Amino acid sequence: MRILTKEIVMLEGEAVELMGWVAGRRDHGKLVFIDLRDRGGVVQVVFLPSAKEAYPEAQKLRAEWVVRVRGTVAKRPENMRNSAIVTGDFEIQASDLLVLNQAETPPFPLDTDGHDIDEETRLKYRYLDLRRSRLQKNLKLRHQVIHFMRNFLSDRSFVEVETPVLGKSTPEGARDYLVPSRVYPGKFYALPQSPQQYKQLLMVAGLERYFQIARCFRDEDSRGDRQPEFTQLDLEMSFVVQEDVLSLTEELLIKLVGAVAPEKHITAIPFPRMSWKEAMEKHKTDKPDLRKDKNDPNELSFMWIIDFPLFEKDKEGKMTAAHHPFSRPNPEDEHMLDTDPYAVRSWCYDIVLNQYELGSGSIRINNSEMQKKIFRMLGLSDKKIDADFGHMLQAFEFGAPPHGGIAPGIDRLIMILSNEPNIRETIAFPKTGDGRDPMMDAPSVVDPSQLKELGIVLAKKTKDR
Ligand code: ASP
Repeated sequence: MRILTKEIVMLEGEAVELMGWVAGRRDHGKLVFIDLRDRGGVVQVVFLPSAKEAYPEAQKLRAEWVVRVRGTVAKRPENMRNSAIVTGDFEIQASDLLVLNQAETPPFPLDTDGHDIDEETRLKYRYLDLRRSRLQKNLKLRHQVIHFMRNFLSDRSFVEVETPVLGKSTPEGARDYLVPSRVYPGKFYALPQSPQQYKQLLMVAGLERYFQIARCFRDEDSRGDRQPEFTQLDLEMSFVVQEDVLSLTEELLIKLVGAVAPEKHITAIPFPRMSWKEAMEKHKTDKPDLRKDKNDPNELSFMWIIDFPLFEKDKEGKMTAAHHPFSRPNPEDEHMLDTDPYAVRSWCYDIVLNQYELGSGSIRINNSEMQKKIFRMLGLSDKKIDADFGHMLQAFEFGAPPHGGIAPGIDRLIMILSNEPNIRETIAFPKTGDGRDPMMDAPSVVDPSQLKELGIVLAKKTKDR
């Protein structure tokens, strides 16, 4: 029966069977050594000429061949021990070798951290790139983080609900990805920029505590740590005030760090809170970095920015929602909505970590009159409000509870926990910085018959590209 390489440390003198990849081969005089890699780690295997059948086979092995090895676990001679690997005090003295599959020479080395290799090539052969231990570690950490979040929230009566990917445009401030409808020519679904409307509608539906490991899609121009699709821990709660959302999120993050990244230390608990105004005045940014030692890779400085303004001006000077149009004006400032709207604060908050915005959230409007007023202030005509958000306004007429939530970004959290320079290192199959997948060759042209079926005719300029 197959065991993992890391398990051999308890099995000195025993006969074992291992399966995995050849991470490297060295011939030393009469001996052939291979490093055998599996999901648990690496172990050294030695083939002696006395292993009549296995020995000549072992001489043919190349990097990344897939093999089954049978042999005996032996202690290495004192001066041959390797403390850099878990199995370093031992080796397998092979008696039998079976090649399960051969492999081409990989286009790049897999036994380094890979940071120096051209990213385009790494992404083209991502299935090989992911074999390196750094990326295996990142994916495992990602799994642990999500697993922890699921358990933490489930233990507190949150229900995980999947919301549609084919939906309708949600105003989160970015461009939508559109999906043409074949059945309704000329009509389009939009991929969700976040499940914002659905999670609020789940509160109207009486769920009270919702979460989702949610994929969000935003068609933005490329930026270092942005991806066209990314993952949030999306959550929403009913009958809460801002303090409830903040303290739940804070407890989750503190316990999460303790469980999955105990080597990290948090600069200050409880997380410091700063109003947006104070952050801008004192630090000239709404993402201040409060780390005590910026060279310390294990320091995590979480903080809350609160009291954001409800509105801000966009590049053209037009009034826009600072977070999104569903955030609730602070009742203390509501009287200024008509007279001094830019002075109105909202019940909106950001969680900031080491100068990154980790996530945003807010207490929401749950009253259709107020929601309509905000849409109008943002310059939407009644016709547009009705067409785009009629369902929300209607839902708020049916007993919408007070509610609010938050959505911390998971990719960014893993990036910081694993000390990676960008979120692509934390995603199994990311896009390049300019939005391509070099492995699948996406985006790609499609068959003209598919376009015809959708009733789509490409403009000449796009066709020629
Ligand atoms: N949907 C918001 C976002 O993606 C988060 C929230 O308000 O809960 O930023």
